[in-house]
Amino acid sequence: MLGNSGAPRWYDCDLGRFRDYLELLDEVGASGAEIVLHDGDADEFTSRVHVLREDWTRVITGYRNRGLTLSVHGPLTPEFSPTAWRDQPRETMRRYDPLLRQVAELADDQSGATLVLHAVTDTASTLAENEQATVSFVEAIGDEARRHSPHVKLAIELRAFRHERPTAAATTRESIMRVVQQVDSGLVGVCWDVAHDLESHIALGQEWSAPTDAFLSQIIHLHVHDLGPDDEPHYPPLVGRVPLARSMAELEDIPRIMEVRWRMAARIGDPWDVLRRSYGVVSSMSRS
Ligand SMILES: [Zn+2]
Repeated sequence: MLGNSGAPRWYDCDLGRFRDYLELLDEVGASGAEIVLHDGDADEFTSRVHVLREDWTRVITGYRNRGLTLSVHGPLTPEFSPTAWRDQPRETMRRYDPLLRQVAELADDQSGATLVLHAVTDTASTLAENEQATVSFVEAIGDEARRHSPHVKLAIELRAFRHERPTAAATTRESIMRVVQQVDSGLVGVCWDVAHDLESHIALGQEWSAPTDAFLSQIIHLHVHDLGPDDEPHYPPLVGRVPLARSMAELEDIPRIMEVRWRMAARIGDPWDVLRRSYGVVSSMSRS
C-alpha cells in the first residue's frame, strides 16, 4: 500500500476540491491514505491538519469509494495525548471512544486498519517511566478498540529525539523496541518513521546504521518523508537525505505513507505537482 498523509490542507479544507484531490490520487496510483481524525473543538491549525468530526463520513466515504485503504493517525491535540490519558484516564478514554469506533468500522470494512499513536514525552518523567506509561496507554487503547473490532492494529511511531525532551519514549529504535516487546501483542507494532529516525541519529551524534532483523520484524507501518536543507522533516522524498530506498528494501509488504506536509511541498514547487513526483519516486523504490 502506498499513500500519503491527507491533511485537509491538501484540498484547501474544501470538500468540493477534495474530489479533485481524489482524482489526483487516482492518477498517481495511490492505493491508500492516512488521515488524522479529530473530535471536539478545533482551531484553524487543527482543522487544516485533522479531519474534523463533521467531515468524517464524507471524507472516509470519498477515499473508500475510490478503493483506497485508510490508516488513521491519532489526534495531535493535547487533550488526546498519552499524558492526558495518564492524568485523566476516564475522561481521555471517553474522548477517544468515537474515534476508536470509527477505526474499528474501517478495520471491519477493510479487514484491518492501523491506528498510529505517539508515545509519552513527559519531560518531568524518566525514560523508563515514559516507556511504561506508553505501554499502559497502548494497552488501554488496544483493549478499548478491540471491543469494537478484532482487526484494529496499533502502531507506535518512532519520533525524533530532541534535546529539549531527552526522556521522551520511542525516539530511538531501542526505546520503541522495549515498548513494543513489553506490550507483546501481535496487533501492536512499530511505525518506522525513517526520517525521524535519521533526525534522532543526527541529534545523538550517531552514524546511520542499517536496522537489525529484530527491529525490522516489529515494523507494521512506514512513514516516508525527507529532511530539508533547513533540517526540518516532512519534506517530500525528493531531497535525497534520508536513506529511504535502502531502508525499505526489506519491507515491501508494509504500508507506506508519505508524510509530506503541504507547507514543505510548497517550498519546492506546486504542492500537487510535488506530490505527483513524490509518488513516482517512492513507487520506483519497490522491487516488484
Ligand atoms: Zn505521528
